[in-house]
Amino acid sequence: MWKRGIIAALCVVAFLGAAVVQARPPASRPAGKASLAGVRITLDPGHGGSDPGTHGKVTGIYEKDITLPVALKAKALLEAKGAIVTLTRTTDRDVYGPLATAPQELQARVNIAVQHHADLFVSLHANACADTKVGGFTSYYFPQSARGKALAQALQNRLVQTANRPDRGIQPAGFYVLKYSPMPAALVEMLFLSNPQEEALLRQKPFQDKLANALALGIEDYVHPPARPQPGRKGATRTTL
Ligand SMILES: [Zn+2]
Repeated sequence: MWKRGIIAALCVVAFLGAAVVQARPPASRPAGKASLAGVRITLDPGHGGSDPGTHGKVTGIYEKDITLPVALKAKALLEAKGAIVTLTRTTDRDVYGPLATAPQELQARVNIAVQHHADLFVSLHANACADTKVGGFTSYYFPQSARGKALAQALQNRLVQTANRPDRGIQPAGFYVLKYSPMPAALVEMLFLSNPQEEALLRQKPFQDKLANALALGIEDYVHPPARPQPGRKGATRTTL
């Protein structure tokens, strides 16, 4: 979550967005370690420094302290596949500076992706809702971005496989980093810290690693879309990033 003011709105979106997404068939992609060779990626661990994000209702753990380890692990996994990865932050810090305005802070994150010449941008978050029973995964994309939508769907497909939690599907949204990133971008809300069951999951290092692996696999699926059974067509094709 970016700001408390939009929590209620996102909860509504979460309710309306509840949907079952069919799992994709097994991925077909180039074998070996270099399946993402040369692909430039920027990961954005949401919040940091003076902005903790939302927090768990049971332990008080901050969203910023979950997004960072997931992003660091995902970076390592993506680099093992040959990707060139940068993070908007690698420590508990503000990117623009302490107590910046939201546009200043968020543009600073977009700027890092631009300077990195990123082919794609993924912002990592955990959600919150006043109703502590609400839970699940949601991935967002900017409505005018077909590639962003494909990226969000690829990430969502993999995230929902990490835990038996609701699949709230993908949703269009005008979040700053989605709107102003010139490259395909997605924002993932990895469960709800307001849900005690999901808070417990999110605090576990092995589960954080599962999330990171799902993000890496989702990016791989986006770059090399899994083959779909079509008459007269075999194998996967590389998408335009
Ligand atoms: Zn957030």
